[in-house]
Order: sequence, then structure tokens, then C-alpha cells
Amino acid sequence: MIVKSKTKPLILRQMEALLNRIPDNHSKRKLIEEDFAKQMAGYKGEKSLEYHLSYLPEKESYVFHDLRLFNKQHFFQIDVLILTPFFLSILEVKNISGSLYFNSAYTQLVRRIEDKEEGFPDPVAQVKRQAFHLKCWLEEQNIPMPPIEPLAVIGNERSVIKFDPRDKMNLHLVIPPAEIPSKINYFRNRYKTEAHTNRQLKKLISKLTISHTPLLSKILQRYQISPAELKQGVQCHKCTSFPMIRLHGRWSCPACNQLSKDAHIQSLQEYSFLISQSISNAQAKKFLQVESRDSVKRLLQSISLKTIGTKRGTKYLLDFFADNPDSL
Ligand SMILES: [Zn+2]
Repeated sequence: MIVKSKTKPLILRQMEALLNRIPDNHSKRKLIEEDFAKQMAGYKGEKSLEYHLSYLPEKESYVFHDLRLFNKQHFFQIDVLILTPFFLSILEVKNISGSLYFNSAYTQLVRRIEDKEEGFPDPVAQVKRQAFHLKCWLEEQNIPMPPIEPLAVIGNERSVIKFDPRDKMNLHLVIPPAEIPSKINYFRNRYKTEAHTNRQLKKLISKLTISHTPLLSKILQRYQISPAELKQGVQCHKCTSFPMIRLHGRWSCPACNQLSKDAHIQSLQEYSFLISQSISNAQAKKFLQVESRDSVKRLLQSISLKTIGTKRGTKYLLDFFADNPDSL
């Protein structure tokens, strides 16, 4: 069964918000669009794994997508974790097209398209490192250590994969998505004794779920864009223009006359993705382009946001995430 499904990653939602707010003629726009297309392709590739994962035995496999766990001083990220009573398997998923050459001596994956060569981190080395981190994490949880099987999944089925002939060890760790069920079945036949009781397994599932900490990137910093460069104001859902005007307790679009009661919610969500997860009255006044301090207060209170601080120092927490990302 799927415990944690593949959802649109935060970084993609942040990039969508950024592309919505950055002016059309901004010098960084093209770069952001290109990065967005790459991220989207990766997401679609991982999403397509769900079909192959659906062939796993429903009752004894628990699947987690995109787990980010903290081990002592560092976070580590697992694309897919398959938990069974007998063993654990972790998958590193790559969607790289072209002719791929694994050079484990240099822990590098070299991609060749036509005459152009490009280096990527070796997914086998990456997934082995995650297995090591996961082992350390499990040790801390006081749960018996199961066997851990790392695998690198090359999602692009048209990729041609080549290995250094001296490097036979890693050959069986790189598989196409369609081979996941048979590989898991192979491990199942290999490990005949249960590593966990039912109770331990449930405890582990709950610990993994609670411990997941999604990353909210400092996306404006990454592209060196200041908040002032973004389009300010509330966007009209109908014609997408900025800004709507606050009139008689409603939002009104000067371009198409559309009225809205809640158009500010999307703006506050975008603010939380791009700028900060908390907002003061003065900041909201500026970002939503509302003149009255009182109507901003009413707007923020109407969506019952938690607050910190008092009086003029009050900040409203913009808690729009399904789970708790670490702070900006
Ligand atoms: Zn409009």
C-alpha cells in the first residue's frame, strides 16, 4: 500500500508561484522557465513509477515517496522507500536520457547525447549513501535493523546504459522501472525471516511519517531576485491580471470586472512560498495592496491564521502546507 504518495514537490509549487509573480520581461524569467521544465520532467518521471509500484504485493509492502529525514547533523532524501516485514529497499530515481556510462571509480555518471558529454553524480553511489544514512537513522529509533537493499532506477526507458567492464558489482543495482516488482520479489525470496513484528512495523511506519521534514527552498535567494521585483497585489482568477481592488468587502478586477471574496488566499500562499511563512499587517498591506490597516486585519483574521507577537509586532503564520517544512 502507498503510505506517502507522490505529490507535487514544494519546489515546483514555489517555482509556479515565482513564474506567476515575476514580470514577463524580467531577465531571469527564461532561466526559471528552463529549470521549471527540468523539475517538471523529473516529477512526471517519478509519478510514472506509481504504475510499476502498484504491482507490489499490497499487504506486505508499504511505499513512501519523497522522504526527507534528519540524521544527526544532516538531512537526507529518499525518492522511494519500500518497507516490508522482511527487508527495506530504497530507490534513487533518475530521468536522464541519452547514452549513460557508469564510472564508479569516479562516482560519476556520464551522459552522451550526439557528441556532447555531461557528468552527473553516480546514482548508485548516491543511493548507497542514503542506505548508510537510513541505517544510522534506524539505529537511533531503537527498532531492529532490517536488511537494506539500495537500487538506482533509470526512468527513461530509451536510455542506453553502459558500465565499466571492471565494475560488475554495481550492475545489478541499476534497473528500469518495469523491473521493480520482480526485483522486490527476488529480495522477498532471499530474506525468509521477518525482520520486524507487526507492531514494530507499525511503529516504524508512524516514525517515518512523523519524521518527514519537507524542504522549503529560499527560492528568491537562489535566483537573486528581491521581493520588490515581484508583481504586487491580488491576482484575478478569471483574467489573471494584477492587482484586484478591495471594494466593499470584496475583490474587484478593474480589467474584467470579476468579483471575488477569497482571491487574497492565493496571494498569501504565494507570499509563503516565495518570501516568508509569516506576515505582519504592514507587509500584508503592501503585498495585497490594501490601504486600510483594519481591512487587512479582518482579512488575515478571517482565514483564522495562528499569530505570534502582540500589537504592532503581531505576525500571522502562513501555514499552507500539508506537513511541516523547516523554516525559511
Ligand atoms: Zn480579471
